[in-house]
Amino acid sequence: MPVIRTLPPAAAPIYCRDILAGMLGLVRGQRELNRFELEIKKYFGAKHCFLVSSGKAALTLILEALKDIHPCRNQVLIPAFICYSVPSAIVRAGLKVRLCDIGPKTLDFDFGRLSKILSQYLPSGTDEAAGSNRLLAVISAHLFGLPADVDHVRELAKCQDAVIVEDAAQAMGTERRGRKSGMLGDVSFFSLGRGKALSAMEGGIILTDRQDIAGRMAARLADVPDYNVFELIRLVVNVILLSLFMHPSLFWFPKLFPFLRIGDTIYDPGFKIRKMSSFQAGLARGWQDKLKKFKKIREINSRLWSTLIKNSKDYDLLSKMDSNFIRFPVKVHNASVRNNILMESKRNGLGIMPTYPDSIDGIQELRDDFKGMEFPVAKEYCNRLITLPVHPYVTENDRRRIAALISQTDLGIEKCWNKR
Ligand SMILES: *Cc1c(COP(=O)(O)O)cnc(C)c1O
Repeated sequence: MPVIRTLPPAAAPIYCRDILAGMLGLVRGQRELNRFELEIKKYFGAKHCFLVSSGKAALTLILEALKDIHPCRNQVLIPAFICYSVPSAIVRAGLKVRLCDIGPKTLDFDFGRLSKILSQYLPSGTDEAAGSNRLLAVISAHLFGLPADVDHVRELAKCQDAVIVEDAAQAMGTERRGRKSGMLGDVSFFSLGRGKALSAMEGGIILTDRQDIAGRMAARLADVPDYNVFELIRLVVNVILLSLFMHPSLFWFPKLFPFLRIGDTIYDPGFKIRKMSSFQAGLARGWQDKLKKFKKIREINSRLWSTLIKNSKDYDLLSKMDSNFIRFPVKVHNASVRNNILMESKRNGLGIMPTYPDSIDGIQELRDDFKGMEFPVAKEYCNRLITLPVHPYVTENDRRRIAALISQTDLGIEKCWNKR
């Protein structure tokens, strides 16, 4: 691979001063974690907040807490198109994955199908011990920052009394009709992983207003270990490397090492679960300002991609394109156009990427659970979707090069370039 400017598909910069704040956080210990927790609660208006080592750790603890509340229930319903961390966490919590296809014009549930699937579960209140209703939770996810219709899920699942878990891993700082993502479900989580809206290398935040869930969560979390010294040193070193190498002038370098699995989506229930360290809480210092600043930049870039795509017949926008994206999703009609774009992007380091390699039923380890079932829309999205970068490292020159590739002909771009 030649040494060229290479854009990551998504990035939330970590600056030198953030790393210093992280070090200071290490020294301040629990006080730093308390500060972060308090700021989060205040900003979101949430009654309870818990800080852990990743989004998947957060989801696992949420599901374990819910299992404590409903010990006879063991199924979790999720969209068939979602990050592999979600089924990983469900299996880690000792629960069963159930799938529902997504809508053809959204990245949200196909609500007609969701309603049918839910009707297969008996209403709650029937004898729980007999296992007549085994549906524990439905997970609604805001993919790429596109807000999902959590209220609709709640409405449909009311009868089954399923807990609505909001996967806001990719949506910290987004809103839907004036309500903040993270406050729409019974319980929700954010991720502070690489490539999310805000990054501390790794980290997870759990929010809930429900006293029963918070009580179980606190009990579960009491048994979760802290990062040990070696893990902490590794984390600090990785954050320093990440803050350097996510810069486009150096990002070609980590991509040389396939074992780093940069950008890979992997299914693996064997991840570590820790309490968040004060280093991560320190790194996040000033997160409201950072989030606001990144949002502004991402919105400007998203608006540009939106205009560009609207003028082209080769692509489809998803509905509700006025969102605060962390990567801008675009559906490409023609497979060979898509392959060409991905190949050219790779060659020129433009940061245009596919999303998930397959729908959840295609994951090797889970395949047997979904024999004979089909999720055609989720499959189609895996084969047709690409994302354009919108993060703060994208420059005017990058935008021009991406636009030229996307529009294939240079006719369309000049028009929308001038209209900006
Ligand atoms: C990233 C992500 C997760 C998991 O978060 P990690 O911090 O990477 O464990 C869960 N759900 C979605 C939709 C995600 O994008």
